[in-house]
Amino acid sequence: MVEFKFKQTAPWLGMGQKIDTEYSADARAKLRALMIFVDFPNCRACDAEAPYNGTTYYKEILAEDGLRAMAAVSDGRIDLTIDCADGWYTMPKDDAEYKMERVITYEIHAAYIADACDVCADDYDLDDYDIFYVVPVKGSAVPYSPTLVSRKYPVCGQRNKSGLCVTFGADMHFRKGLLLAHETGHILGLPDYYSYQCERGGDFAKCGGWSLMGLIEGFAPDWFLYDKWRLGFVPDERVEVLDGIGEFEVKLAFADEDEGKTLVLIPAEETRAYAVEVRMASGLDEKLAKYGGRGIILYEMDGTRSGGYDCLNVIPKAGSEEFYGKLNARECREFVLDGESVSHGGVTVTLEGETAKITIERE
Ligand SMILES: [Zn+2]
Repeated sequence: MVEFKFKQTAPWLGMGQKIDTEYSADARAKLRALMIFVDFPNCRACDAEAPYNGTTYYKEILAEDGLRAMAAVSDGRIDLTIDCADGWYTMPKDDAEYKMERVITYEIHAAYIADACDVCADDYDLDDYDIFYVVPVKGSAVPYSPTLVSRKYPVCGQRNKSGLCVTFGADMHFRKGLLLAHETGHILGLPDYYSYQCERGGDFAKCGGWSLMGLIEGFAPDWFLYDKWRLGFVPDERVEVLDGIGEFEVKLAFADEDEGKTLVLIPAEETRAYAVEVRMASGLDEKLAKYGGRGIILYEMDGTRSGGYDCLNVIPKAGSEEFYGKLNARECREFVLDGESVSHGGVTVTLEGETAKITIERE
């Protein structure tokens, strides 16, 4: 077991190493999900145009593409199956009556989930499932895809209940499986890395285009290795913790068969730490080819902040310091290539071939 001295004090999904599986799903367990397809009395699937009138289209863009995305972000390690309902269930109220707008209260979300729990109760006992995915017919008034992460206190319908539920909306039609991976990330306990409250255009100023828990359409949407590690997808032997001050050299692994580390953790204060990780132009990150293909990134993690409130901050590399806290998700200035450095808060990292040279000073 890798010992990493870093504490999360933030109350909600955040940067803590240990995921609270009383509320979240256990990423190390076998997980079973149910996906149902719903329409509304005023917006029936049978009235939709093909292919939106059948369930096959939705299965392909969410269940099938979503499992591919989950395999990618978990390095093939997640054990998730999705059972899909055969037909449509009609919700008891018209779509607009649910008021599933961009920002909704818990009560609005819970009322929608409770009805979805009940419409399929003749066919499914949701206690048999860990995760419940609710997919509405195209054209219905459900614009976004919020997620309930409350395993301990599920939403109860009359006959069925769910504490881990994604209610998909219209953004599924262009985000597809990556959206399922983002929302399922929350179900596994991961926070949002974009900013809920920020100046216009500043949503991705801290996370840039890294991790689909930030920007789903980012240039490098694979999950941060710290997230993969705390969910059990990166083995401990790939992780090194540097404690204390001084100069360190860490041999990095850029290919599966290489010996070395892919993630280096640097505790700074009780609730603050840095991580250095290897990133490559492959899989979900293939667009990194445009930015040099092979390198490392440095990010700081703040245990006092929850998801959506800047709990993670990717550091721009040397020469781009003016972009600290002002990253642009469509222009990468954070990818540290061979011979380059990045520095922040007393931590300096230089990539030399396969080696990360790391200097840690007290600030
Ligand atoms: Zn989110």
